[in-house]
Amino acid sequence: MSQTTTMPPRVGFVSLGCPKNLVDSERILTELRTEGYEVVPRYDDAEIVIVNTCGFIDSAVQESLEAIGEALNENGKVIVTGCLGAKENQIREVHPKVLEITGPHSYEQVLSHVHRYVPKPQHNPFLSLVPEQGVKLTPRHYAYLKISEGCNHRCTFCIIPSMRGDLDSRPIGSVLDEAKRLVEAGVKELLVISQDTSAYGVDVKHRTGFWNGSPVKTSMVSLCEQLAKLGVWVRLHYVYPYPHVDDVIPLMAEGKILPYLDIPLQHASPRILKLMKRPGAVERTLERIKRWREICPQLTLRSTFIVGFPGETEEEFQMLLDFLKEARLDRVGCFKYSPVEGATANQLPDQVPEAVKEERYDRFMQLQQKISSERLQEKVGREILVLIDEVDEEGAIGRSMADAPEIDGAVYLNGERDVKPGDVIRAVVDHADEYDLWATKR
Ligand code: SF4
Repeated sequence: MSQTTTMPPRVGFVSLGCPKNLVDSERILTELRTEGYEVVPRYDDAEIVIVNTCGFIDSAVQESLEAIGEALNENGKVIVTGCLGAKENQIREVHPKVLEITGPHSYEQVLSHVHRYVPKPQHNPFLSLVPEQGVKLTPRHYAYLKISEGCNHRCTFCIIPSMRGDLDSRPIGSVLDEAKRLVEAGVKELLVISQDTSAYGVDVKHRTGFWNGSPVKTSMVSLCEQLAKLGVWVRLHYVYPYPHVDDVIPLMAEGKILPYLDIPLQHASPRILKLMKRPGAVERTLERIKRWREICPQLTLRSTFIVGFPGETEEEFQMLLDFLKEARLDRVGCFKYSPVEGATANQLPDQVPEAVKEERYDRFMQLQQKISSERLQEKVGREILVLIDEVDEEGAIGRSMADAPEIDGAVYLNGERDVKPGDVIRAVVDHADEYDLWATKR
């Protein structure tokens, strides 16, 4: 009997936005590969292109619309999904030829749209080619672990809840299964992400789930305790400043999870925080930071702030600078307030002029850069652990426990080629600038 070899159907994929979107992309790609589709890197090789969009701020919307336009020009058959997909009209106005549009985490719909235009192959000979941990878009040694979708807060500058809906926590057993699979596949660092990590389980009233035959509560603290048993680095992102965050600090002090807290504080003026609909007890925040550092002196604190929020006075901005001086956070991101279509803060009076926002942003960054670089200088001469990310002819580049991939600094080990990505080594810090460290392997 003669056998004809049929080419697998080919799909192009563009993934934009934050790590949460990246996880959605990985999930869709895993399903496609499992069904026998081939994912190709060039528009003209693909029979259809999926664009997973971001819609967080205006520049992200623009980038997404441009990516859709490019895919339409280069290929012509385009399916759109992701955050911006929640605003179908906005996309259709610019790109009426898009075939289908879905919002975030609509894996099944995306797949059924693909099936409609590029039918699923009959056989499934590629199943065995899909790695156990699924298709990952991050390097092999670290992975994002998404624990929930959506958010129950209604911060006035944010439209995420309108795009991603209310909090929807994944069952703890399935989160831990995924984490275990990733670790078994060689992952050395798990980055826990969500819109609101500290709210994990609130929607299911912290119900008790099961893992490995034992009961486990659906909560951030229980999750951390279980992840700690996997023996890899566990890093927490997007931790909303709830009181129970205090409970994970001892786990950090005991070395169970990384002493790293990414906790967006957004402002330091109680009035502005109230306008933002964020918790506003600033005095308490400073006290808490002090206490956290007493319990866990090696703690790295990362936060983000918004300057130029509607109504922010010079005095209130000054409060923010004073807070920074007092809190001496390690890593800080700053955004100039920009009205996002659909956000309630757009209706607030006294919008701050662009030039003032710019000027405040510069003052903020100048101050914080000085603090961050002083904090890094304190590390010179100390021994640190470094997770190697890449090795090239000039040496190795890695990250310390204080550095999350993509957003924080790096540790350069010049001339060091006797290591490989995923190794965790001891090194002594020789030098620091305002973002990065240079170190020598011990
Ligand atoms: S907590 Fe974060 S995701 Fe939720 S509404 Fe506020 S800014 Fe948006």
